[in-house]
Amino acid sequence: MTSSDFPTVGIVGAGQLARMSAPPAIGLGVRLRVLAERSDDPAAQVIPDVTVGDYRDLATLRAFAAGCDVVTFDHEHVPTEHLQALEADGVKVRPGSAALVHGQDKLVMRERLTAIGVPVPRWAQVSSAADLAGFLATTGGGTAVLKTARGGYDGKGVRVVRAGAAGADAADWLAAGAPLLVEELVDFGRELAVLVARSPSGQAVVYPVVESVQVDGVCREVYAPAPGIGEDHALAAQEAALRIAQALEITGLMAVELFDTAAGVLVNELALRPHNTGHWTIDGAVTSQFEQHLRAVLDLPLGSPAPVADHAVMVNVLGGDLADLYPAYLHCMARDPGLKIHVYGKQVRPGRKVGHVTVVGDDLADLQERARHAAAYLRGDADE
Ligand code: ADP
Repeated sequence: MTSSDFPTVGIVGAGQLARMSAPPAIGLGVRLRVLAERSDDPAAQVIPDVTVGDYRDLATLRAFAAGCDVVTFDHEHVPTEHLQALEADGVKVRPGSAALVHGQDKLVMRERLTAIGVPVPRWAQVSSAADLAGFLATTGGGTAVLKTARGGYDGKGVRVVRAGAAGADAADWLAAGAPLLVEELVDFGRELAVLVARSPSGQAVVYPVVESVQVDGVCREVYAPAPGIGEDHALAAQEAALRIAQALEITGLMAVELFDTAAGVLVNELALRPHNTGHWTIDGAVTSQFEQHLRAVLDLPLGSPAPVADHAVMVNVLGGDLADLYPAYLHCMARDPGLKIHVYGKQVRPGRKVGHVTVVGDDLADLQERARHAAAYLRGDADE
């Protein structure tokens, strides 16, 4: 075999997830091709084989897929019917359209998880103000969480609604006629996430359960493993992830987001791709989530998910007052040589995820202080 026989993986989307797939692809000897929206997208800056085009256009997707051994994704927005058309052409789409829909449509996901016996918040489909009022009447406090089935991310498409005001709270979404679901407002202690990878042959590996700190629906910090988690909750979360991966025949990486409650863990969301809650694995695990995803979609043997230190802390760098990260980045590197700073090559805009910082070691409080300081400094919120 020569190096030219090594496979090509096509990634639809060229954001930071595709960009962070480049280092492991180099190590594995795998070629990457990306379908970018713009020529300066984060992954298009570092991967030479770039097609600029619209992922909503089937002809563009077909031309992109020609010559790829496998097609995968850095976002879940490709229309399901286009994925089915590619599959009918014989393209290896991984994860496949039948699995991917569970990361695209929260109603489909809730129905399926309920059917396979995975614990989820109590939920119902909503088509009218009367449906919503009916569900709210069954809640103790008269509040619930209304969600659009499709199109939500980073907390958009999620709203708390109250009995009495629910008609008004939900009027615009009901008028738009988009499929909606309502859920109990879960009284959780914290949010957890667990990554699982599964290959087409059925091999699966699961990573340690992590805690994710969300602010206004956006992931801010991740601690791996989840500090102080009991073995029962950790095992329940890992078992749920493995059960979902098996039942949905996931190929590639999946992140399962959960609520940690006194009564046990409840699954909130699925993302069928590498995920923000798994960025710690680049510096904190034997096999990063990006390498694992490539191995899984190519049906290669999977790598060890074991952590390389007692704790890893990841803090997102969100856009702030500093338009140019570079001087701040030099300062952070000089101040703390143990930090790993990751920058996505994006223009800084307020609140936008422009990078992350990870630090690993044995003293959780020290790691949190160091990672938070660097993320704040890069944002323009710290002085020294
Ligand atoms: P998105 O698709 O935007 O990620 P999620 O369904 O993950 O939407 O919800 C975003 C956030 O809203 C969650 O991280 C959680 O903090 C909160 N949330 C979602 N569903 C519930 C619920 N049923 N009870 C309490 N909080 C919830």
